[in-house]
Amino acid sequence: MIYLDNAATTKPCDEAVKAAVAALADDFGNPSSRHFVGTQAERILADARTTIAKALAADEKCIFFTSGATESNNWAIRGAAENRIKRKPKVVTTTVEHPSVKEAVKALERLGAQIVWVSPDENGEITAESIISAVDDKTCLVSCMLVNNETGYVLPVAEGFAAIKRKYPDCITHCDAVQGFMKLPIKVNALCADLISVSGHKVYAPKGVGALYIKKGVNITTFMQGGGQEGGKRSGTENIPAIAGFAAAVKKLGGNINQRYENACTLRDTLYNSINSIADDIVINSKAGALPYICSIAMVGYKSETLLNFMSERGICVSSGSACSKGKKSSVLKAFGIPDNVADSTLRVSFSCDTTPQEVEQFAAALEQARALASTGNKRK
Ligand code: PMP
Repeated sequence: MIYLDNAATTKPCDEAVKAAVAALADDFGNPSSRHFVGTQAERILADARTTIAKALAADEKCIFFTSGATESNNWAIRGAAENRIKRKPKVVTTTVEHPSVKEAVKALERLGAQIVWVSPDENGEITAESIISAVDDKTCLVSCMLVNNETGYVLPVAEGFAAIKRKYPDCITHCDAVQGFMKLPIKVNALCADLISVSGHKVYAPKGVGALYIKKGVNITTFMQGGGQEGGKRSGTENIPAIAGFAAAVKKLGGNINQRYENACTLRDTLYNSINSIADDIVINSKAGALPYICSIAMVGYKSETLLNFMSERGICVSSGSACSKGKKSSVLKAFGIPDNVADSTLRVSFSCDTTPQEVEQFAAALEQARALASTGNKRK
């Protein structure tokens, strides 16, 4: 198998599996129980919180575990805006966000919020200036992703949020950092974000676990009512096996962000060089400066679904657009100004830290094969 769909999900690393299994089989206590089995689970939870906090250069008291980034995004957006939109009805976000942000924002609209959508300009860029100028003294929340999940485009979040905070200190800043976490250096203070969402399964941890960073002093409403876990902010018995796996995966990745980034650049260059040698009508949708882990390409005239199936039959996993927009036309590619015929042929190739240049070359060879087969088919007609 050649797995090149790491923006959809990653294979949990051995360390994550080991930690999750140990928590399932041995340290199965409820962290809220006061006996020693509970205390052991509580210790795992506390250690995990420290690990995730460290990875974001945050205080551990500011990390709240959730069921994943969909929950983190919904909680952040609804929680920040719900009590503020009466006084400040505007919410600013971008047209290239993940559905868990877009849909959460649309739900606010039904509560009376006025949504300001920032779109990429004619060059497919979202400038810090365009985010900053969308905010005014009636804006209660701005939500902007760090890295786009379909193209790897890196948004100027730190620059935008810093200026917004200088001008409108009360405006809450939220960043969906899922695709940038452990790939770009993220420090909560440098990002100027009050709220940050991250997810475990994009960083070699199990699915169904994520976290929301909530800056000290920032109040957001809570929508998981119950036993008062997570400091009373997010009730529900914590998913200790997944949390233990999350922490183990993050610990393993450690501080080697630059080294991994360099490797991803090599993989990206290998991909682009190999596809350029197949034919010159292959389009690269990802821009220069995009995160090298996510490459959006299109062999125009060949439907993504057909290519995806062709690859899958040969043991190669890639994606068309994002895993979350299964079968639907990508509104994100459209927002980036990618023409429909290119979007229809788009494949997203995304790397892990275990991907090898040989695997990337094999993918390119399969693409060439798909093209050759199609042209023979056409000739026969
Ligand atoms: N935001 C982005 C940018 C994502 O790529 C994803 C996952 N596709 C999510 C949010 C949702 O994360 P989860 O799967 O943990 O709910």
